[in-house]
Formats: sequence, structure tokens, C-alpha cells
Amino acid sequence: MNKVTSPGHTDQTAPAGVRRRPSVIPEMGESTDRLESLRQEEYLQRAAQAAARLSEEIGRPLTFQVVTFGCQMNARDSEKLTGILLQAGLQPTEEEGADVVIFNTCTIRDNADQRLFGRLGRVSHQKRLNPIMKTAVCGCMTQEPGNVDKLRRSYPFVDLIFGTHNLFRFPEYLYRLLSGEKHIVELWEGTDRIVETLPVKRLYPFKSGVNITFGCNNFCTYCIVPYVRGRERSRTAEEILEEVRRLAADGVTEIMLLGQNVNSYGNDLEDSISFPELCRRVCRTEGIKRVRFMTPHPKDLSDELIEVIRTEPVMARHIHLPLQSGSTEILRRMNRRYTKDQYLELALKIRDRLPDVALSTDIIVGFPGETDADVEDTLDVIRRVSFDNAFTFIFSPRRGTPAAQLEDTSSEADIHRRFDAVLRQVQTCARARTRALEGQVMEGLVEEVNRQQAGYVTARLSNNLLVHIPGDASMIGQYLPIRLEDCRGFYYFGKTEECNG
Ligand code: SF4
Repeated sequence: MNKVTSPGHTDQTAPAGVRRRPSVIPEMGESTDRLESLRQEEYLQRAAQAAARLSEEIGRPLTFQVVTFGCQMNARDSEKLTGILLQAGLQPTEEEGADVVIFNTCTIRDNADQRLFGRLGRVSHQKRLNPIMKTAVCGCMTQEPGNVDKLRRSYPFVDLIFGTHNLFRFPEYLYRLLSGEKHIVELWEGTDRIVETLPVKRLYPFKSGVNITFGCNNFCTYCIVPYVRGRERSRTAEEILEEVRRLAADGVTEIMLLGQNVNSYGNDLEDSISFPELCRRVCRTEGIKRVRFMTPHPKDLSDELIEVIRTEPVMARHIHLPLQSGSTEILRRMNRRYTKDQYLELALKIRDRLPDVALSTDIIVGFPGETDADVEDTLDVIRRVSFDNAFTFIFSPRRGTPAAQLEDTSSEADIHRRFDAVLRQVQTCARARTRALEGQVMEGLVEEVNRQQAGYVTARLSNNLLVHIPGDASMIGQYLPIRLEDCRGFYYFGKTEECNG
């Protein structure tokens, strides 16, 4: 592993730039992931002691807030950060101005950067009101060249900056933060380590993400992920299954297997099982009732996976299959490594073999050089596949990616006109697919109380559709048969079968 920036631990007794570590905690060196895990557990205890001391000084418990931007992988990382902070004895708060505030950043889209800078602007004011407040920034954005300098220049009050590859060292950084250290910057260019044994606080008690791979080898030309998350690394099947068993014993019934390209799971391991076989084994774990995965790359989605989804009722009836563009030429420039026809063949095969499975997708409009004819191809794919749902984005160049160097000749007006056409087509198809389910009874997992509609809860069907039904918090975590009564475009109001009678 290489560190890009590591000014190190500059405590009061060591000369500037000299790194000092508590002597009882072994250096990692060539140690195994298990040793690193023990080392971080030791730091976690020290962080808890430091938190207790601080809390005694100020006469109240320390509070924290983790602010998450971005994708499922980031949400999972935030669960880990939250688990560590809770274990160190800090209390969560929704209010701004917590004693420890962590921003877990995303770099996929520009507006996530802007939202972060907006929030950081407010932090400087909050720090004046709460002098013990500590601020940290982590996540993909910190791995992007130039961002750390910008953070240090424009927001010098940020106490800790760390990256995606060394998140497992957060107990150590937390200890240093709570011991009064400032300006900690720890970034690694990459890692071969996978340390997944630290505490995690799940957002939902009944469902959980489980990382199966980290990083990506695909290098789509618009995407920063391979640069900020590094090359693909898989966890072993035994580790993953052990985590699933632990989660099931703790009351989790729904598992989301997470990776940037789940289909290539195991390619970097010797004698690994395939992703479909991993899915089958997770499905057959006692207590697990639903298994989802995110995200498959269309170039690698195999017949074996389709067969596992067909034959394992525990597999969710939903596949998210990112299209990005329907134009073979744009796909080539995106380095997606499939053509329009190959995508169509796969999507229509899924429709044919798995008729009850919902297909959702991502589409980018406005990739440099895109023409009306290219967008026609995208519209054609949308019509022929008839997606159940789609996330449509306007291309925004990410610094450091090849696509950011490409010239675009389209005007803003052209791009917005094309975007509107794609959105309209997507919505037409999604509405029709959703409405076709009216009157059916399907099993829903109640996830939360509906904040907009008093006396209602929200359930998620296996095909990922949301249904609002009368109920209360006592139903959360239950699987219920639900009749889909009132279609509201992309979601339903319904009733449990029992209520119907
Ligand atoms: S598959 Fe492409 S879009 Fe997805 S994370 Fe990898 S490089 Fe990015």
C-alpha cells in the first residue's frame, strides 16, 4: 500500500512530523488482517476512555453525527463509522453542532461536492459555539487529487481527513482526535487489506448490506470509482457467509450483497466460488428471507445467475442493470464493453426467463459527442425493455476521468431536450409496468413509518416497489401479504390481506 499524504501524528511531545503510536499497540507491518483488527479493537477501547474523560470534563455525554452522501457502499461505510462511534460511547444526534461530525463524501456527481462545501461552511460557525467540536471528512472525494489541498486551504478547521482504503483504521483516528490531535490527514493510494470485523450500527435492524467486493477494474471513462476505490478485491466466501449467519442470528432477514461489479466476484481469489453460487448459499442461510445485490455489470451477468434467481425463491424479484446509453458508439466511448444489441439480448432474456422480475436501470444523457440519433437508440432500448424504474442523469464530467477531456458540441438546450425525452419515455414505461400489478397480492417487508401519511407504514415488495399500508411501528420488520389497491404512478397504496376481509 502507498500513502499519498500522511503528515502523521503530531502530538505535543514528538518533534513535528514524527509519528508516535501507543507502545502497547503493535505496528501493522506485514501483520495479517486479523492482527490489524485486534490493533483497531485496542484503539477503540482507548477512544472510549478518551471519550469518557472528555465527557466528564464537559458534564454531558459526547454526541456525534455521520452525514452520508452517495451510494449504497457509502451508506454501508457510514454504518461502520456509526458502529465505532457508538461503541466508543458517543451518542447520535440529528441536530447540527454535534461534538464529532463526520462527512462521508461522494464524488460521482458535482452536486455532492457542492452540498459538502455548503455544510462545511456552516460547521465553521458551529465550531465557534462548541469549542470541543471535531470535524472529519472521509469517503471517495478525499481520494480525488486536489480535493485534500482544497479542504485544507478553504476549511482549515477540519480536524481529520481520511480515505476509503483506510476506513478500517477509524478507531485509531478517533482516538487521536479525542486526544486533542488536529490536522490529521491519512490517505492511502490503495490497499490489499479487508478488515471487516469492527462494530457496525445498522440503519435497519431487519436488513443489512454485506460487502462482497471492494473497488472496480472496469474503468468506464466517466467514472472516478476505480481511481478512488482502487482495484477490485473480493472477500472470501467463508467470511461473507459467516457475516450473513451472524446477521441472521441478530434478526436480519434481508441481505443486500454489495460490490461495484458483483458479477466479477471471486475473480481475484484462488479457488473461489462464483457470484451465483455465493447468492445460492446466502439464500440458503437459516433466517434469510430475501437476497438482493447491487450492482451487476451487463457485460458479466451470466446465465448461471439468471438460473439462480429463477430457482431460488429467496432471491429478490429485482435486477438493477445499468444501461447508461442505448447507442453502441456512446457505449464504446464510455468503455462499457457491450453494444446496444448485447444489452438488449440480455435484458430480453431476463424478461423471458424471469417474467416476475422488475428491471431497473441508470441512464446518462449528454455524454460528450452524443447526438439525437444516439438518444433515439437509448429511447429504443427503453421502449423495448420497458424498464420498471430508471435513474436518469445529465452527464457531469469528473476531474481525473478520461471523459472529462472529451469535447462536447451539444448545447445545453439540446441536452435538456434529450433528457426530457428520455425521462418521459422512462416514466411512461415505469407507470405501465407498475399499474399492471394492480389488484395483485404480494409479500411486502414493512420498513418504516410513513412520515407523510399519519397512520401508515411503508413496505417494500420483493420487486423493490413501495406500498403504503395502514399500520404502526409495531409492524416494522414483518413480511405481510399486501393487496396493491391504488396505483399512484410509481408506488401503491394497499392493504394487508387480513385488513381486507
Ligand atoms: S463498472 Fe464502471 S461505472 Fe461501475 S464502478 Fe466500475 S468503472 Fe464505475
